[in-house]
Amino acid sequence: MTGGRTARQISRPLARVARRGIEVVHGEIEHINPEAREVVVSGRRLTGDYLVVALGAELAPGSISGLAEAGHNVYTLAGAEAFRDAFAEFSGGKLVVLTAAPAYKCPAAPYEAAMLLEAACRTRGIRAGTQIALYAAEPGPMGVAGPAVSAAVRQMVEAKGIAYHPEHQVQTADAKVRRLHFANGAEASYDLLAFVPPHRAPRVVRESGLVGESGWISVNRHTLETKHAGVYALGDVATIPLALGKPLPKAGVFAGAQAEVVATNIARAVTGKGKPTTFNGDGGCFIEVGDGMAGFGQGNFYAEPVPQIKLRSPGRLWHGAKVLLEKDWLWRRL
Ligand SMILES: Cc1cc2nc3c(=O)[nH]c(=O)nc-3n(C[C@H](O)[C@H](O)[C@H](O)COP(=O)(O)OP(=O)(O)OC[C@H]3O[C@@H](n4cnc5c(N)ncnc54)[C@H](O)[C@@H]3O)c2cc1C
Repeated sequence: MTGGRTARQISRPLARVARRGIEVVHGEIEHINPEAREVVVSGRRLTGDYLVVALGAELAPGSISGLAEAGHNVYTLAGAEAFRDAFAEFSGGKLVVLTAAPAYKCPAAPYEAAMLLEAACRTRGIRAGTQIALYAAEPGPMGVAGPAVSAAVRQMVEAKGIAYHPEHQVQTADAKVRRLHFANGAEASYDLLAFVPPHRAPRVVRESGLVGESGWISVNRHTLETKHAGVYALGDVATIPLALGKPLPKAGVFAGAQAEVVATNIARAVTGKGKPTTFNGDGGCFIEVGDGMAGFGQGNFYAEPVPQIKLRSPGRLWHGAKVLLEKDWLWRRL
């Protein structure tokens, strides 16, 4: 969204997985039958001894009146690119980052977005004429990481002169007059808007019978197995309640770790080789703060009564580590 990378630089074709002898079928998944461990992909029926559902979260900007037209959904590639182009034209005024629901994947991302934009405004020499505000539906940043981490991230944001407005649930947005209306009666005007839309499970998952009251797929927190034997769900589409009353955050670091657990255990069941393994709730995330620096929060999210997360202060080291992680994903894993 700030133009630091092009889409080409951060993409690899999934077809590369075929080099490992895996058949890659591209298409829309139209139907999932968990009892039969069967899916229909673009009209083709596929049945397995095991089924792993990893369909992520569907973004639903349309669920808030006027939101889709009011700004840029920076949780999609197209939206981030459109925002980048609009930001290049932006020469000052009111810049707003908005979370349109209190729970969304990568709880750090909108806070990082605000801080990266603040740094980009300084680089472009337009900071003095720009007011940056972050309106959040949630009560504070990264609440699941505990009050100390939340307060520290809020402090990072506010120290950069970004006005932070938590517990502002947007109700309607008016693109014509560039105005947001919140459930608490507050209003905010903007010249350029970046938003994180509400999330829900993809339609095909909602229609599969796999989804519980939470709206997501409940799984065994250690094995990721659903209530159907041999059917697993992992990553953003799954929900794992934590003792503090919030679910495990939706994040790539967990999706990746869960995938390794599920894959290892299925391979073991098929071949009889290897040791069984479990997902233990460990994870960490970098928090980009701009100027080539990042913080790093890491710990155990299954710890009770609250997750035990340690936040390392922002510096160049953690930003460098994030760049290395990106290279690892793009070149070694795919
Ligand atoms: C801006 C941003 C920054 C982030 N930063 C971080 C970070 O720093 N660290 C971190 O850990 N996480 C981060 N995340 C979160 C991370 O990207 C997700 O948690 C992760 O990608 C979840 O993986 P997944 O496999 O569950 O779902 P996804 O990666 O969303 O993959 C699901 C796939 O299923 C496809 N799909 C859905 N329905 C169908 C269908 N019916 N037919 C065919 N295909 C379908 C989707 O198109 C998608 O390609 C970030 C997310 C965003 C948006």
